[in-house]
Amino acid sequence: MPSLQSWFSELDFPLLICGPCSVESEEQILATAQALAEITEVGLLRGGIWKPRTRPDSFEGMGEQGLAWLQKAKQVTGLPIAIEVGTPEHIETALRYEVDAFWIGARTVVNPFSVQQLADALKGTDLPVFVKNPVSPDLKLWIGAIERFRNAGLSRVAAIHRGFSYYKDTIYRNFPMWEIPIELTQKMNVPMITDISHICGHPDLLLPTAQKAIDLATDGLMIECHIHPEQALTDARQQITPDRLREMIAQLSFRSKNSSTVERDLAGLRGEIDDIDSELIQLLARRMDVSQQIGRYKKQNNVTVVQMERWKKILSDHVAAGEDLGLSPDLITEIFEAIHQASIRRQSEIMDE
Ligand code: PEP
Ligand code: MN
Repeated sequence: MPSLQSWFSELDFPLLICGPCSVESEEQILATAQALAEITEVGLLRGGIWKPRTRPDSFEGMGEQGLAWLQKAKQVTGLPIAIEVGTPEHIETALRYEVDAFWIGARTVVNPFSVQQLADALKGTDLPVFVKNPVSPDLKLWIGAIERFRNAGLSRVAAIHRGFSYYKDTIYRNFPMWEIPIELTQKMNVPMITDISHICGHPDLLLPTAQKAIDLATDGLMIECHIHPEQALTDARQQITPDRLREMIAQLSFRSKNSSTVERDLAGLRGEIDDIDSELIQLLARRMDVSQQIGRYKKQNNVTVVQMERWKKILSDHVAAGEDLGLSPDLITEIFEAIHQASIRRQSEIMDE
């Protein structure tokens, strides 16, 4: 098990931070922790004690009682423990239960007043602090939070990338925007943990997302694990069992953390291309959806599928817009002709239905 004391520079394996979204009962946290402790790669046990919930009537965590169970899980398994803190009182209480590390949640990092209060409360402890990215893709806010903890004299500050709220639906719960954590690592020289559970929101996406994070030279992964995910009181849809975690670890190819800077930079750029492609696919699907609605409307109102004048106008507008951005007329024409043909085919099918 990698020791947290040695901090990231000495780890040659990504640190795996695993455990339930929330500590719910003594049995739940003990059973989860014991199963996780048998997986050698797991280095830190996470458990939410105070949960920042979107709606007021939701389960808000077990509080101090949960800390006692988490401490017991630490004693039984030997795994160090980490929790989220949002107020100085949380820190004060947690310090009485031998908590080894803290993370600051995405909703707290958006507020510099809160971050400063937490930094002040941690002064003198020198415990590891993991700063999640703020919910919005605001690199400066993330940097500012890290600076506040460093300025308070904390020497072991790491970042956690948990994805960003996005104004459109994507396959992710929180859109990764890999270029932002990469830029943070370059600017702040800070270890980066990838919270694949909150990025993905679903177990099916965990494996490729974990592999991508590893290819981008992540220093660790945060993965929500629950002994019975279907019974979880929070984030039931994204948690996995320790058994499934073990299977996933076996499928990952870990790279040496000392891979060359060239490789790392290239991986960053490739990640950016992958994000853009995934957006392009979402956009194409949305465009096709609207085109289908038009097809149905045309059918009801007896309008022909192809309207040459409109198509010519669209194409010439797009060619002009592309040229303004340095894209060749041939490229724009080829792409939009392919898209237009696909739309016509779909609308013709609707007409024939
Ligand atoms: C969590 O880790 O359970 C959590 C609430 O995460 P975030 O702050 O990233 O939403
Ligand atoms: Mn969660």
